[in-house]
Amino acid sequence: MALHEYECPACGGAMEFNPGTQKLKCPFCDSEFDVRDYVANHSSSPTGESSENYSDEKDSEGQPMYIYSCASCGGEILATESLGSMKCPFCSNNVVVHEKFTGSFKPDYIIPFTKTKEDAMEAYKGYVKSKRLAPKVFLEENHIDEIKGVYVPFWLFSATQEYEGTFEATRIRTWSDSNYNYTETSFYEAERKGSEDFEQVPIDGSREMPDDLMESLEPFDRSAMVPFNMGYLAGFLANKYNVTADEDRARAEERMAATATLNFHNSVAGYSTVRCVSERCRTTNESHKYALYPVYVLNTSWNGDNYLFAMNGQTGKFIGNLPFSMPQAAKYYFPTALGVAAVVFLLITMFS
Ligand SMILES: [Zn+2]
Ligand SMILES: [Zn+2]
Repeated sequence: MALHEYECPACGGAMEFNPGTQKLKCPFCDSEFDVRDYVANHSSSPTGESSENYSDEKDSEGQPMYIYSCASCGGEILATESLGSMKCPFCSNNVVVHEKFTGSFKPDYIIPFTKTKEDAMEAYKGYVKSKRLAPKVFLEENHIDEIKGVYVPFWLFSATQEYEGTFEATRIRTWSDSNYNYTETSFYEAERKGSEDFEQVPIDGSREMPDDLMESLEPFDRSAMVPFNMGYLAGFLANKYNVTADEDRARAEERMAATATLNFHNSVAGYSTVRCVSERCRTTNESHKYALYPVYVLNTSWNGDNYLFAMNGQTGKFIGNLPFSMPQAAKYYFPTALGVAAVVFLLITMFS
């Protein structure tokens, strides 16, 4: 396994991708380099060879962890099988395992981070404070510092959905004369046949990331997507896919078919009642691309439960789930409840 580092050409420091300027920046001498220039000049010669060894430790799914030795300091870096971009915990060097992003693992595209870790920390604090019942522990600084920028692997599916459906519909007309009320029901058979094109519907290719969480971080703006370049990974974690496109395909087709079906249903309009008799969706012209999308995550456990917070690293959309904390709830409700009781008591006294 070849390790790739981001050594500053000016001072040898470990460079990081800067979301603000979209350049590689050396935090030591402040030099900045265009990502494409830097990687074109340096990517052909990975700086260190490292044997990939199994460790005795296991990840959360019971898979073996891997050990890499840092080319800068010789320290041993422990990582899951899919993790390909990381920081050496000893010397803070940014390291990429070449083989995790080359060959069949080479992404077609990447959406670079545009939000900084500080943006993510602010969003998290705002979110926790807006949930007044959240336990204090969620706002502790050392805890917030554990927010990590991760490039998550996504499969982008493009396809055409060929739709065919028949519907029974009615139109009801009512009127009255001096003797009777009349109701006239007209019956119709409606047919819909057509196709809808879908472009690059994202489905996450990471076993560790909950699908529903990733879907709620959408949309990502694809117009900012650029051809993949390892320079964007510097200073961030990045995972290679461990769910294949074949495994994700059914989920992608389901999402596209659901959207197409809804659109065709909605086009049967102007009736009193509509009933779908039969319909089918067929997927054609399917293709897929592989991309890395930017996400900030904070994974935390509290009182034996796990909580995951995440922010879209491009748009800043923030989502999370927070627990209900009893001690905080008591503090929050009791002063109010006592206050109300006191006012009621006062009123009773005044009017009695
Ligand atoms: Zn430097
Ligand atoms: Zn090191």
